[in-house]
Amino acid sequence: MTRPMIGISACLLGQPVRFNGGHKKDNWVTDTLASVADFTAYCPEVGIGLPTPRPTLRLIAKDSEIRAVDSDTQSKDYTAPLQAYFDQHTKTIGQLDGYILMQGSPSCGMERVKLYGDRAMPEKIASGIFAERLQKAFPNMPIEEAGRLNDAPIAESFLTRLYVYHEWRTTQPYQSAASLIRFHSKHKFLIMLHDYAGYRRAGRMLADLSNSSDLPNIAEQYLTEIMNSLKAISTTGQRTNALLHLFGFLKTYLEPSEKDSVLAVIKRYQQQDLPYVVPLTMLRHYATVHQQKDGYMWQQSVWAPYPEHLNQYKNIV
Ligand code: SF4
Repeated sequence: MTRPMIGISACLLGQPVRFNGGHKKDNWVTDTLASVADFTAYCPEVGIGLPTPRPTLRLIAKDSEIRAVDSDTQSKDYTAPLQAYFDQHTKTIGQLDGYILMQGSPSCGMERVKLYGDRAMPEKIASGIFAERLQKAFPNMPIEEAGRLNDAPIAESFLTRLYVYHEWRTTQPYQSAASLIRFHSKHKFLIMLHDYAGYRRAGRMLADLSNSSDLPNIAEQYLTEIMNSLKAISTTGQRTNALLHLFGFLKTYLEPSEKDSVLAVIKRYQQQDLPYVVPLTMLRHYATVHQQKDGYMWQQSVWAPYPEHLNQYKNIV
């Protein structure tokens, strides 16, 4: 696996760019994720020329629009400069494999940012101005907030999407029908793990690639489909289903006693008695042992969708 390049709110890397002159260094990002990925940092507020320290901004609802203004007087409107800052960097950001945003910020917050309106209390319903532009411009890009990445299933989905998107961008499987089919073939169990219906839809999209002029369009729709599927948090039922499908392919090579032990372990996982990684590792062992007979199973990305020492799924049941 090559190293993905991730865009990130600069304060999360420890840069002292916050309104109070501080930072919000995220140790998982700087210690763990940094071992496998590189970062390009953006601070939209410093980028538009605001000093550090500076008065805080807030989002307000005004004339059916969301505006970023200074919290004290609400007379200085920074919406257009923040939007322009994103627009200036759109091309570079488009080369990234994912983005990690600082939660709650009127510039960088992905969702649930406080929006001040007529009510006495602000409602947590908005996206920051920069983040809103980012999500609209790149709907297929994996984007998450640092705070949400403390949740293992959300982190697992983000890391999975990050590496699939990185592979899509760097190997460009959409260049030919054959490479697109190979890409899908490699990731099918991974997609199934998150969204069985999405996996079926994605497969159907590739059913007829005979007209090469349709390929760019189909490939783009396919990417949207699988990125949406991988965003879904996988349930125990979906994981069990995917494990049973993997077993179904591998069982030809197994002795009766081996089949029994695999099925027993899958059942214990289904009963939430064992973490997901246990039956997965067992099946992977048999895929490794029989890789000469079945290269298709061995090449599946579901065995290790991202570098294993990140291991977000080790405790997922
Ligand atoms: S949240 Fe965004 S705008 Fe605020 S300090 Fe961090 S990088 Fe800068």
